Amino acid sequence: MIPIPYRKVLLIDDDPVQIAILSAYFSALRVPHILTAENSLRALDLLAESDGDIDLIVSDLQMPQMDGLEFLRHLKGRQFTGRLAIMSGVKSDILEHAGRLAKLQGLNLIGKLGKPVSKAGLDRLFLADPLESGTGKDAQPGDRQRLQHGAISRESLLQAISEGRIVPYFQPKIDTKTRTIYGAEALARWLDREGNVIHTPDRFIPVAEQSGLIVTLTESLLAKGLEAIVGFRRLNPALHFAFNLTPSMMRNLKLPDRICAMLRQAGLPANSVGFEITEDAALDPDARTLEVLSRLRIHDFELAIDDFGTGHANIANLRNFPYTELKIDSSFVLSATRDSFSLQTIKSAVGLARELGMSVVAEGVEDHATWDLVRGFGIERVQGFLFGRAMDAGRFAAFIEQCRTGVKTAA
Ligand code: C2E
Ligand code: CA
Ligand code: CA
Repeated sequence: MIPIPYRKVLLIDDDPVQIAILSAYFSALRVPHILTAENSLRALDLLAESDGDIDLIVSDLQMPQMDGLEFLRHLKGRQFTGRLAIMSGVKSDILEHAGRLAKLQGLNLIGKLGKPVSKAGLDRLFLADPLESGTGKDAQPGDRQRLQHGAISRESLLQAISEGRIVPYFQPKIDTKTRTIYGAEALARWLDREGNVIHTPDRFIPVAEQSGLIVTLTESLLAKGLEAIVGFRRLNPALHFAFNLTPSMMRNLKLPDRICAMLRQAGLPANSVGFEITEDAALDPDARTLEVLSRLRIHDFELAIDDFGTGHANIANLRNFPYTELKIDSSFVLSATRDSFSLQTIKSAVGLARELGMSVVAEGVEDHATWDLVRGFGIERVQGFLFGRAMDAGRFAAFIEQCRTGVKTAA
């Protein structure tokens, strides 16, 4: 039996029967504190009264007074960092949109539940082995994960950075034409002192952003990443690597020089490295942002717009900024074979990229049907669990070696 990671849960539904079912479910799991609210306003009161120690909210979408979508916005405003599950009897595509909205708000959404809820559905969402469920989505056999819950403080993050325990993992990118490895994206992982992964980036990157540690964290990741990349390129000199930068960093005029100096020190050419920047409203087309992006581009770094399609889709930004690559958000790719809206979004993103001379990457390719579909669209590169999850430097080096005899899929 997996220990239940929740100590205080908040259940919100205007239907007393649903509340009773969920309360019974969580008390059977011996969750010590179960709070219930019949509407969003009451839920916000309970949230305000708690000491920030609610670690799971399960919310209905359709409620009187304030609907679930508006409630999500309030949760974001209250900087709720616990987990969230949404549940509703609405049509599944509306539930999909609500899920995207939650993700866009930076909320830690662990899943969506259609009504009526079943015990099996609840177990899948709340009891799955962390190695299989959303929070452990990058875990793979051999990974030592001990994911922790609860709030992350600035102090603990700073300590982890200074002890070198925020490290890059590498997820392979595959070239669809040659079917060989193209390179990798560096994804941050927080390790404990024994080397187990204890936090995934969706938990600590927002803390870094809010507490002024994002530059320190990114520079430390870059330093470690570049060192590893020197080794990877000894095995295969053609590989390309990408790091994630947040929109707020794009206003830092010193950034391009700092990055160039780090590459020079590592002895790596600029065209071996690129940066992915999340599509975000904060990326105002102002002169400063444009200067930072353009200088990175002049130095020959590839620039990708990340998570394309998740809401702030700003075509003007695409035209105004010197992006070279468009990354289609995994939420569309994951559902492309069964959801026509996702399929249309991919189609129009590819059309737009072609018109602007950008290459396209699809992330979230988990099965062969999706792989065939994205290749059919002429998408240049893919990332996804079908080929490999993010892995530590040692395992990524082994992956490069295996690719000498052709890329193997995990399925
Ligand atoms: P992202 O940049 O969109 O990164 C891709 C995420 O999708 C990764 O999650 C990856 O593990 C996951 N993914 C890849 N293939 C599949 C697939 O086939 N199926 C599914 N279900 N998921 C897949 P991860 O590593 O948890 O990263 C989450 C986000 O955290 C990243 O999203 C990125 O926005 C942010 N992040 C990660 N590392 C850094 C960093 O060093 N700096 C900054 N600023 N943000 C980072
Ligand atoms: Ca990315
Ligand atoms: Ca993404």
